[in-house]
Amino acid sequence: MRKFALAGNPNSGKTTLFNSLTGATAHVGNWPGVTVDKREGTYRKLGEPIYIVDLPGIYSLSPYTPEEVVSRNYILEEKPDCVINIIDATNLERNLYLTTQLLEIDVPVVVALNMSDVVRKNGDKIDAETLSKRLGTPVVEISALRQENLDALMEAAVKAASNERKGSTIVSDKDLLHLISDVQIALELKGIENPLFHAVKLVELDELETAMHPDLVETVNKFKASFKNETFGSDFEALIADERYEYIAKNYATTLTKAPKAEDKGEDTLTKSDKIDKVMTHRIWAIPLFVVIMFFIFHFTFSEDLFFLNRIFGLEISHEGWINFFTGMAPEFDEATGELLPLGGIPSIGVWLQSWFGWLTGSVIDWFGSWMPAGQWYTSLVCDGLLTGLDAVLSFVPQIMILFLFIAILEDSGYMARVAFILDRAFRKFGLSGKAFIPMLTGFGCSVPAIMATRTLEDEREKNRTIRLMTCFSCGAKAPIWALLAGVGAMAGFAGDIFVFTIYVGGIACAIIFALFMKLFSKDQYVSPFIMELPQYHMPQARNVGAHLWEKFKHYLIKAGTIIAACTIVIWALKSFGWEDGKFGLLLFEELNAETGEMEWVLHIDGSILAYLGRGLRYFFYPLGCLEGGWTNNVDGWKYVVSTLTGLIAKEDVVATMAELGLDEGTVGLSLAGVYSFAVYNLFTIPCFAAIGAASGEQKGKEFWLTMLWWFAMSYGFALVVYWVGSLYAVAWWGGLLVTLALAGAVVGAGIVVSRRHKAALAQ
Ligand code: GDP
Ligand code: MG
Repeated sequence: MRKFALAGNPNSGKTTLFNSLTGATAHVGNWPGVTVDKREGTYRKLGEPIYIVDLPGIYSLSPYTPEEVVSRNYILEEKPDCVINIIDATNLERNLYLTTQLLEIDVPVVVALNMSDVVRKNGDKIDAETLSKRLGTPVVEISALRQENLDALMEAAVKAASNERKGSTIVSDKDLLHLISDVQIALELKGIENPLFHAVKLVELDELETAMHPDLVETVNKFKASFKNETFGSDFEALIADERYEYIAKNYATTLTKAPKAEDKGEDTLTKSDKIDKVMTHRIWAIPLFVVIMFFIFHFTFSEDLFFLNRIFGLEISHEGWINFFTGMAPEFDEATGELLPLGGIPSIGVWLQSWFGWLTGSVIDWFGSWMPAGQWYTSLVCDGLLTGLDAVLSFVPQIMILFLFIAILEDSGYMARVAFILDRAFRKFGLSGKAFIPMLTGFGCSVPAIMATRTLEDEREKNRTIRLMTCFSCGAKAPIWALLAGVGAMAGFAGDIFVFTIYVGGIACAIIFALFMKLFSKDQYVSPFIMELPQYHMPQARNVGAHLWEKFKHYLIKAGTIIAACTIVIWALKSFGWEDGKFGLLLFEELNAETGEMEWVLHIDGSILAYLGRGLRYFFYPLGCLEGGWTNNVDGWKYVVSTLTGLIAKEDVVATMAELGLDEGTVGLSLAGVYSFAVYNLFTIPCFAAIGAASGEQKGKEFWLTMLWWFAMSYGFALVVYWVGSLYAVAWWGGLLVTLALAGAVVGAGIVVSRRHKAALAQ
C-alpha cells in the first residue's frame, strides 16, 4: 500500500484534512518512545487504498522538540511515497519556512494550500501556478474544513508519488553552498541517503547530525574559522534560517495578492473573527466572560431550577400529570402532610436527561433482580455488586455527555484556544507560563494524556510544577462525583449547578494559588515563551463535535465495562464477607422488613471486611469532617472513606462504591461544608493508577515521590481548611478563622513577592 504523510505547522489544518481523507478509519496512538499523537488511516476514494499518517505539527525540521524529531525521522526513515505539506494559506510566509526544509529531502512533495476559503473570503488571491513553478512541486488549493478540492489534492499526490524527486535547496550564499556540496559529496560516498538534507543540517551543526557524522563536523568547523558574515558571524544555523526567510519573501510570498486594504476604501479592516476577539479577549472583560460562559455550561447541565425561576419568582408549578412526565422529575411529598409538593423549578437539559436515564437503568436493574433467584450469593453479586455499581456510573452518562458537548463546541469554535491565551496573559504577570496551559486544559478531559503532554515543556521545573497542579483541573472521570453531589445539593437546599461550577472554577483558582507558592520557593524566574496561533472563529461542525463526543462515550463505556466492572465485584466481595457473631462468612440474611411486613434478603455490611477497614482508616480522615454533617463523623463515615480509596483505581469508582454501600442522592446526609470537604479531597488527591503510571513515566525518583506527596498533602490540607472554614458559621471556631486569615494573607503576600520578582527579572 502506498504511504503518504501529512506534514505542516500546528493549526494548519492537518487533523481536519486527515479526518476528511480517512473518515472513520482513523487510529490514534503514540509514537514509540514519545508521547506525541500518532494518527493513521486509509484513504479509499482512488482505486488502491492509500495509507495516511498525520505527522505532529512542526515549524521546522530542527531537533529541538519531540514533534520535530518524530516528523523528521518518519520522513527520513519510513520513506513515505509522498509528503503532503499542508500550509495555512492565510499565513503563507511563515508556513513556507518548513516547506523549504522538506524540499531538501529526496521525497516527492505536494503543497496543499489550506484555508483557501478564508483567503477567498478576505478577497486575497494566491497564484498557485506560479508558486508551483517556483517551488518545483504541485500546489493544490484546498479547504480541509469544507472538503473542497481534496480529491484533486490526492490525485496530484498519487501522480507525484510515481516519480522520484531529488532534494533541492534555496540556500544561495556561494561559500555556504560550496561547503554544503562538499559535505554532500562526502555523505554520498558514505552511501548515506538524502545527502542534501543531511549536508544542510550538518552545516547548521544540528545536534542529531553531528552525533552521527563526527568526522564531517571537523570540515564544517574548519570552514567556519575562515568565514565571517557581518550580521551572523559564523552562526550557520541563523544564517541559513535568514536565507530561507529572505528567499521566501522574494520568490514565494510575491505570489500572494492582497485585497486592497479596506482602510484605503474607508472600510472597517477587522475580520469578523477579530471583532469577536475584541470582546472575548478584552483585557478586562475576558476573564469575567469566561467565568460567565462556564457558569452557564454548568447551569444547563446540573441545574434543577433553570434560570433560577423558582428561586426568584417562586414558581408554583403543579407536579402532576403531563408536567411530571415532561420534566422527568420524581414527585416529592411534604413529610408532615403527605401532600404533593409543587415542582422545585424547571430542570435543565442535563438534569432532565439524567432523570429519565436514571429511571431507565434503575428499572432494568429492578427487573433483573426480580428475575434472579432470591437469597443466592450470585444474585447478590450481580444485583448488589455489579449492577448497582455500574448503574451509578452509567446513569450519569447523559449529564457528562452534555457537559462534554458544551466543551467540544467551545473547542471547535476556536474559543478554547482563546481561553489558554487569556489565562496565559493573567498568569504571566506572576511569571507563570503559558505553555503549560495546553496540558492543563487537556487535564479537563483526562489527566493521563495531560501529564504526558508536559513532555513538550522544555524546563524541567516547569514540567514538575505542571504535573503537580494537574489534579486542580477536574478530569472527566470525576464528573460523576460532582453530578452525584449536585443532586445531593439540590436536596439539601443549595444549587447543584453552582456547586459544580465552584468546583471547576475553584480548581483553576487553586492552581493559580498553588503555582504562586511553588514559584515562591523556586529560584528560577524563567518563563518559557507561549506560541499559539489563534485560529479563526467558525461555526462548530457537527462532524467534529460528534466525533469528539463519540470518542468520550466509547472511552467511558469501555472503562465501565472493564476496570470499573471488575472493581464493583471486588468491592462486593469485600462488603459481603465479614464477621457476625464472631463467625466469618457471607453476610447475606433473610429478615423481616418492618415497614412492608415482608421478608427480604439483606447484606449486613456493617460487619464486613470493608467496614472494618474503613472504620480503621476513618480516624486518619477524621479532621476533614468530624462535626455534624461532615463526611467522616457519622455511622456512614467509613463508607465515604472507603469510596475515596477505591477512587485511586479509577475516579468513577467513587460513585460506584458509594452506590454499593447504599449512599445515593437520597441518603447522603452531608452539610454543605461536608459536601465541599469530600469534593475537594477527591478533586485534589492522587488521581488514579493510570495517572500515577503516567507521572512515574515523566518524573524520576525523588520528583515522582514528591508529586505523590504533594497530591496527597494538597487534598488533605485543602479539604481540612474548606471544612473548618465552612463550618465556621455554625461553630465560632477561632482557630479556623485565624488559619484562614493567615492563609489569605500568605496568598496575597506570595502574589506580591512573585510578581515583583518577575518584574525585576524582566527588567534585567
Ligand atoms: P492541526 O493542528 O494542523 O491538526 O490543525 P486542525 O486540523 O486542528 O485545525 C486547526 C483549526 O483550523 C481548526 O479550528 C479547524 O477547524 C480550522 N481549519 C482547518 N482547515 C480549515 C479550512 O480549510 N478552512 C477554515 N476556515 N478553517 C479550517
Ligand atoms: Mg492536529
